[in-house]
Amino acid sequence: MKLNENYLNLQQNYLFAETAHRTSDYIAAHPEQKVIRLGIGDVTLPLAQTVVAAMEKAAAEMGEAATFRGYGPEQGYDFLRNAIADYYAKRGVAIDPSEVFITDGAKSDTGNITDLFAQDNVVMVPDPVYPVYVDTNIMNGRKILYADADKENGFLPLPDENVHADIVYICSPNNPTGAVYNKEQLAAWVVYAKKEKALLLFDAAYEAFVGDTELPRSIFEIPGARECAIEFCSLSKTAGFTGTRCGYTIVPKELAFPDACGNPLSVRQMWLRRQTTKFNGVSYVIQRGAEAAFSEEGMAECRGNIAFYKENAKIIAETLTELGIPFFGGIHSPYIWFECPFGMESWEFFDYMLDTIQVVGTPGAGFGKNGTHYFRLTAFGSRENTTEAMERFRDMIAGGKKE
Ligand code: PLP
Repeated sequence: MKLNENYLNLQQNYLFAETAHRTSDYIAAHPEQKVIRLGIGDVTLPLAQTVVAAMEKAAAEMGEAATFRGYGPEQGYDFLRNAIADYYAKRGVAIDPSEVFITDGAKSDTGNITDLFAQDNVVMVPDPVYPVYVDTNIMNGRKILYADADKENGFLPLPDENVHADIVYICSPNNPTGAVYNKEQLAAWVVYAKKEKALLLFDAAYEAFVGDTELPRSIFEIPGARECAIEFCSLSKTAGFTGTRCGYTIVPKELAFPDACGNPLSVRQMWLRRQTTKFNGVSYVIQRGAEAAFSEEGMAECRGNIAFYKENAKIIAETLTELGIPFFGGIHSPYIWFECPFGMESWEFFDYMLDTIQVVGTPGAGFGKNGTHYFRLTAFGSRENTTEAMERFRDMIAGGKKE
């Protein structure tokens, strides 16, 4: 028996473990201090009442012989696939419900989709990056190229026609930078994918934070994307489902790549086969909750929660603007990505901020080399903590660097 030694090529996943460790050490040494955490990418507001009521009703159905359900369709119940297709239709994007696959979240899907790809494909990810794209491909032994995202390109790398990739990951609005591609920029990626006969994997986990109707929330708003892209999305940030677990992947019927004999293989058919073989579906109760999130009433409640987080983001962004600190994101995203003050590197700034004002964020270096001088704060905290953290931040900058 031989183990998959590609796992040995993974870097230690120490980012959040290390920030938690440094924070708990600090708290143990300074128990009198109030530490404010703005590092986590997890929601804090409770589920919408419409969602909870739908899940309670569904749970009650499961307790009655007449309405009990066992295994459901692996790819999701029609009621939810239809609700998601309607959610896209309202934005003018035509998706057939049979192209929607319900799952337990975008993290699983962005990882599981790699089952469909040959090992010798070249993968391109942005740097900085959501680490799941990198690690799941390292586990499969694929070569990874990095597209530099930096201050010069607004953390939105565009295709380089001199570089070939077979699979390109795009995350917009981006984690960790909060940057959002416009339609022209995404169209450039679609053109690139067609020319290179490549596949775009578009992660739309934060689409619900986009407030400008001119900005794309789906890759399928771009003409031609149905022939070259898969979209991943999730109710985690849209409807506060991080603990409840429900996501979906859209694989268009047109998406096909030639086999060794040149015959087209349907990606949707392959994903269906993969899911029906390795996955037994999301719980009925959760799918009913998700369906309720897409109802008019549910969406209104979810939008209220997102507006609350976006107000926190605005408070952080306004503070940085006032202090003249360059930043990205914070408008159509719960993430604010700023240049570390005092010319510090991100881990140094993590320690400095914790020590000086007792505020915790996430060092940019944890997302890639281009994050070395950047820092991520999130808008998922309480209003009180966000406001207090920014008051402390102002004082820290006004006081100048302490040696
Ligand atoms: N994609 C991105 C870019 C994320 O930031 C996250 C979570 O933080 C996910 C996917 C995971 O989403 P889910 O909770 O649906 O697994």
